[in-house]
Amino acid sequence: MKYFKLFILLIAICMYSCKSEKNETTLDNTDQTAVSEENTERVADMETSDFSNSNVTVKPISHGTLVLEYGTVIIYVDPVGGSEAFKDQQPPTFILITDIHGDHLNVETLEAVSTERSKIIAPQAVADQLPSNLKNQTYVLSNSETKNYAIGNTELIIKAIPMYNLREEALKFHPKKRGNGYVLTLGKERVYISGDTEDIPEMRQLESIDIAFVCMNLPYTMTVKSAADAVLDFQPKKVYPYHYRGTDGLSDVELFKSIVNNENPDIEVVLVDWYEKSDEM
Ligand code: ZN
Repeated sequence: MKYFKLFILLIAICMYSCKSEKNETTLDNTDQTAVSEENTERVADMETSDFSNSNVTVKPISHGTLVLEYGTVIIYVDPVGGSEAFKDQQPPTFILITDIHGDHLNVETLEAVSTERSKIIAPQAVADQLPSNLKNQTYVLSNSETKNYAIGNTELIIKAIPMYNLREEALKFHPKKRGNGYVLTLGKERVYISGDTEDIPEMRQLESIDIAFVCMNLPYTMTVKSAADAVLDFQPKKVYPYHYRGTDGLSDVELFKSIVNNENPDIEVVLVDWYEKSDEM
């Protein structure tokens, strides 16, 4: 009987320690995507959406422009190219804008593709260039700030990540604090959009990224080697080279893929032709 009690006690201790281990993992995850109640906005008209089986679908448009679909949530990133470029897409729930340059911000395209219900997320420098009708539906995010949306039971978190140049000769292109990269948390998936940047520490330190879009073009952003080096540091599950046309033509994305996969074959490098339909940008 004595041994039996001891046995029960041992099982109880074991169960307790397993449980606290689990809690720690949960806490870690929560910390990365910390949700503050006061900053959560409910997207009311989508309350009935079912996200139980949702995955993120990527629709490359051109250069730095893309569409992400997550269940009924449609996210346009840097829509340029007029309504024609989006004729096959559903209207946007969210529009993310990274910076003020013409390959990221185009007011005519925004006017054409946004609806009254679209929420625009942008840095202040972009908001300053928007006409009042678009400004009214814009939420300004500065580097490192986070905005949460609740859609039904699903949390959608948008975090602004710094994007800037490091090389002395390139500092004029993207000064620190002006533009935003973004990390989106869509349910359990995390998507990183680099914007125009070099291999900054804020990129290298990212964690638990499922899908990353990383720029690589000269002289505006960085070399294929710098991009590969940074990607090997933060190890996304999947990475799309994007924004890779520079003044000397397209960057060697095959080289990017081989550098990444020689070192880490577990990172899936997805090569898409972003320039098929587009003219000079
Ligand atoms: Zn650009």
